[in-house]
Amino acid sequence: MKIFLNGKFVEQAQAKVSVFDHGLLYGDGVFEGIRSYNGLIFKLHQHIDRLFESAHTIMLKIPYTKPQLVEAVKDSLRVNKLRDGYIRLVVTRGEGDLGLDPRKCRQPTTFIIADRIQLYPPQLYERGLDIITVATQRNVPEALNPQIKSLNYLNNILAKIEAITAGYEEAIMLSHSGYVTECTGENIFLVKGKQVITPPPFIGVLRGITRQTVMELSRSRKLEVREELLTRHDLFNADEVFLTGTAAEIVPVVKIDGRTIGEGRPGSHTKKLQAAFHQLTKTSGVRY
Ligand code: PMP
Repeated sequence: MKIFLNGKFVEQAQAKVSVFDHGLLYGDGVFEGIRSYNGLIFKLHQHIDRLFESAHTIMLKIPYTKPQLVEAVKDSLRVNKLRDGYIRLVVTRGEGDLGLDPRKCRQPTTFIIADRIQLYPPQLYERGLDIITVATQRNVPEALNPQIKSLNYLNNILAKIEAITAGYEEAIMLSHSGYVTECTGENIFLVKGKQVITPPPFIGVLRGITRQTVMELSRSRKLEVREELLTRHDLFNADEVFLTGTAAEIVPVVKIDGRTIGEGRPGSHTKKLQAAFHQLTKTSGVRY
């Protein structure tokens, strides 16, 4: 596997960064996870835009233009001969000293890993997930805004550990005030009648690109899409619940905290949205 590292393609074994890199020492950096489907990179420009927004907020100057990064992502897939790939694009603060001061980091580190996608087992999509809410609350936006897709994912990892320790695969994280936010790496939606509802970004969720796509697909299917504060009660009493994310796509949820959701099977709207989503991935994207 060849890795794009600071402007050059190097073999995986040579793709090394310094132990003084602040991405490693402090999680000081930003990233994106992107997918390609049959030679088309899905929502590439949206991912690049979000990367630049995350970097802007943390005052990290990405040493490439957007078109240069677009080309670098395409090249990464081409040199690794990947038609269906998962791309990890990372920009860190770079090598500094042991203090926090970002001014000591002279040059950001940029790398792109283009790998095969590790698909979730098909049973997960056929049967649906059984998940729980956990005690670890989602970061409050006033402290660390989840809109910043930073290398600091401990908040999410702590929640994931809680779910795993309890024997579950995924966790729902609540806000400081007890509202539903999102899962550890996916946004959450419920369907009730013709309404498709997901929590608003201000409560502390990443504005997922899959989330946005699903909202658009739902609207074009004449469903009423709303961003609304949700409680666990709302989830328990929904007809359908599903999660969205670049890697997971659309995953049905059939049980939450022991409560069966709807019929306890992936719902009809969820299945139709999955089909529409797959169709979109086949027909839209940036060719390479
Ligand atoms: N929330 C979090 C915390 C995430 O890390 C991700 C995955 N990047 C998502 C939601 C889903 O976002 P997207 O659809 O853009 O992959």
